[in-house]
Amino acid sequence: MSIEKFKSISPADFFYKNREIAGFDNPAKATYMIIRELVENSLDACETHKIIPEIYIRLRKVPTTPNVYEIHVQDNGCGIPFDHIPPAFGQILYSSKYVLRQTRGTFGMGGKMAILYGQITTHFPVTIISSTGVEDWYLFKLMIDIQSNKPIVKSRRSFPNPSHNHGTIIEFRFEGDYTRAKQRIIEYLKLTATILPYLNLTFIDPDGVLYLFSRSTKILPKPPIEVLPHPNGVDTETLSRLISETKAKSMIEFLQKHFHRVGKRTAVKFLKHVNVDPSRSPKSLVSDEILHLGQAMRNYKFFLPPDAKCLSTIGTDLLIKGIKKEFNPEFVVAVTRPPSVYEGHPFIVEAAIAYGGNVSSPQCPGDINLFRFANKIPLLYDAYNDVSMKVIKKIKWWRYRVDIEKDPIAFFIHICSTKIPYKTIGKEYIADRPEIEYEIEWALKNCGKRLRAYLMRKAKMEIKKRRLLILEKYLPHIAKFASELAGKSDIPNYFKLLKHID
Ligand code: ADP
Ligand code: MG
Repeated sequence: MSIEKFKSISPADFFYKNREIAGFDNPAKATYMIIRELVENSLDACETHKIIPEIYIRLRKVPTTPNVYEIHVQDNGCGIPFDHIPPAFGQILYSSKYVLRQTRGTFGMGGKMAILYGQITTHFPVTIISSTGVEDWYLFKLMIDIQSNKPIVKSRRSFPNPSHNHGTIIEFRFEGDYTRAKQRIIEYLKLTATILPYLNLTFIDPDGVLYLFSRSTKILPKPPIEVLPHPNGVDTETLSRLISETKAKSMIEFLQKHFHRVGKRTAVKFLKHVNVDPSRSPKSLVSDEILHLGQAMRNYKFFLPPDAKCLSTIGTDLLIKGIKKEFNPEFVVAVTRPPSVYEGHPFIVEAAIAYGGNVSSPQCPGDINLFRFANKIPLLYDAYNDVSMKVIKKIKWWRYRVDIEKDPIAFFIHICSTKIPYKTIGKEYIADRPEIEYEIEWALKNCGKRLRAYLMRKAKMEIKKRRLLILEKYLPHIAKFASELAGKSDIPNYFKLLKHID
């Protein structure tokens, strides 16, 4: 029997070999994913720094090579300090987002997967131009060394930046299929413009068609704030890392310093509950004790719930503005639920229902117009496996006077959290968590109630209108005959009567 050969591979090599896990399955899906990842990076770079986003995307065919495209994305975001540019774009799992704050990127690989895919399919370097406003403009041409997961700088230049502008431009080539990806890309951009009514986005497609999504407001939602981990959501690995890195001298200090919403009183109570001396040094805990401490932290019910300031919702006003701008419905209602928690991660659900106007009825039998968003990202694939779809199907919509398969009704669900429970790394659909299901259900029912009230008001008005029409038709004749019968030549003013009909 031969002996198995063992070796380790770099993260870049792993994703090179398994690119479908990140959503880069085929040229069409890759075209969509590339645009999506780059737009999301640009949006994160704007919003976390309170910059009103301005994004320009150009996708063009490279004339000399079949199926090869060149993508160019430009934003007015915070830019990247020049020494971080090579690893940020050339080293998988390098990110500025490994903190507890709501962002779109989480894995430190989206943009790089796009670049890596481009490199694999065309063997062309990526060009990045960026400035933070305080530095010069830096231009880098990079490739990724897949085996060692390191950036290779092909060339580097700088230009003066006297007006202190900031932003980033990324440009690279890849093998794609725009024809098959087009519908998804346009839908993605439209939904992004819906959830972000303050975004100006221009897209020029390979056919030279210009898509313009203009903002209808300059108001930005409040940006998320970075927080410490909540004790209910901590795992043993994080706990032992914190213990090994801490400068705290005692357990009581350790808990207060490293965990979200743990004050002195809570720390004392918890340490009493787990029988740990508050003055004991955290470094003195052995691995069994760390294991028990972690378990007890996850199960302890008396920690204060996480504060939602690390989350950034859209808010009902902006949500309604966005939906009105992109869907032009007859009626729209939105709800933002209070913060809630699953496994120690705070989350907030927002929902909206749009009805009538330019909202169309579902295209095929069994379809439902559901638009899903997570941390302000539209999710387009696998709607039927998503928790929101499950909840919508569970609600008895006839109680709200609608038939969701036939009526012109559209549902919008937005979940924001420091950790969205995606089922796959491609970030397409959200796993069922009872706490999330509960919040979605109540958000929708709340919208449903207001829709029902509107529809009832509308039905009442319809009856009134019909009655008026009939009366308008017959009243002149009745008035005429009545006057003749009474032997009067003047016809009474029946318009006054019409005004009083309710
Ligand atoms: P992630 O977004 O998950 O962190 P990416 O590979 O997409 O991973 O991006 C890596 C890092 O590069 C980001 O964390 C961010 O700091 C930086 N970055 C990427 N694109 C931009 C951009 N357009 N503007 C500013 N910084 C960016
Ligand atoms: Mg990203």
